[in-house]
Amino acid sequence: MAAIVLDKLNKHYGSLHHAVKDVDLTIADKEFVALVGPSGCGKSTTLRMIAGLEDISSGEIRIGDRVVNHLPPRDRDIAMVFQNYALYQHMSVYDNLAFGLRNKKMPESEIKAAIDRATEMLGLHELLKRKPRQLSGGQQQRVALGRCIVRNPLVFLFDEPLSNLDAKLRAQMRIEIKRLHAQLPTTSVFVTHDQVEAMTLGDRVVVMKDGRVQQAGTPLSVYGHPVNKFVAGFIGAPAMNFLEVTIAKEGDTVVAQSPAVKLAVSEASSRALEAYKGRRVIMGLRPEHLALGDGVVSRSFAATVEVVEQLGSEILLETRVGDARVTAARVPPETAVAAGDQVRLSVQPGRLHFFDPETENVITA
Ligand code: ADP
Repeated sequence: MAAIVLDKLNKHYGSLHHAVKDVDLTIADKEFVALVGPSGCGKSTTLRMIAGLEDISSGEIRIGDRVVNHLPPRDRDIAMVFQNYALYQHMSVYDNLAFGLRNKKMPESEIKAAIDRATEMLGLHELLKRKPRQLSGGQQQRVALGRCIVRNPLVFLFDEPLSNLDAKLRAQMRIEIKRLHAQLPTTSVFVTHDQVEAMTLGDRVVVMKDGRVQQAGTPLSVYGHPVNKFVAGFIGAPAMNFLEVTIAKEGDTVVAQSPAVKLAVSEASSRALEAYKGRRVIMGLRPEHLALGDGVVSRSFAATVEVVEQLGSEILLETRVGDARVTAARVPPETAVAAGDQVRLSVQPGRLHFFDPETENVITA
């Protein structure tokens, strides 16, 4: 059993740079957590502190029932996969896999059994005699995974392991890592700047910005209920559209309006927006929630098409709505639409997100 608990974790680099700020996070035993955020947000530093590769400025890290703050990496019972694979170039794949176990003086028969098991899981059979330079990037990363598996650690730590691979291979390795975690459920922390990777791999996604955790939740909850504008814009591709609107009341209906848009809001949003009547707020619309077509007037607005991106499976429309640029996705690929066209985009009221313009936090009832 190995939960990981981060308790008020802080990292200062010198006196000027506060890279990780009061991070509180509990990663359950066997849970797969993806730490995601833009470059420089402190995710690798957080991972490296869990690994023991970086000192902690303040706070506590527990793995299982031990406080590990002052334990060297080798005593933390963790295995780490890096972006650059970190394989020994002069050794065969087999010897790379065996290296850590031989250091621990494990008998050769047990080493072989552990390697057989990892080989089976990762399909490494044909590679065992090769040297790393005779392997593709994807194969090298698979060996690096194998080296972690054979050690049978309490915790797997992944530091952007797929970012050196091309897009297709990245997608394949993602599936392999997911399959591996299903076969061998081990507490895992996976650092990535790629929100698709985080969403597809994580039981839970932890979004960081400027050293702080912004939101931790299941992929569906961070997508469906982002707590602030940053998370809303970071999770989801293409990114959420943001428009400045004023909240007003027309009869019994609460509307969000700008010179170019007037949309009735849902009952739940109406309650949440009670305190914002007559004020400006930021409205968020996901591209995939915008449909081309009239819909009902209170659910649609006029847009001018600027760019048409035909993807085969769907069309992405880049449009202008007043002063704002608005992207619409999931337009059927056979739709006849061209740059310069005037169209209407419609959206269900329940799909609208609203953020406070000052705090940028989501507006909730
Ligand atoms: P991420 O992994 O999210 O890209 P990092 O955790 O690597 O971000 O870095 C967080 C912040 O700390 C960045 O602003 C980075 O420049 C800074 N930083 C990282 N390592 C060091 C270091 N050894 N010395 C000084 N600053 C560092």
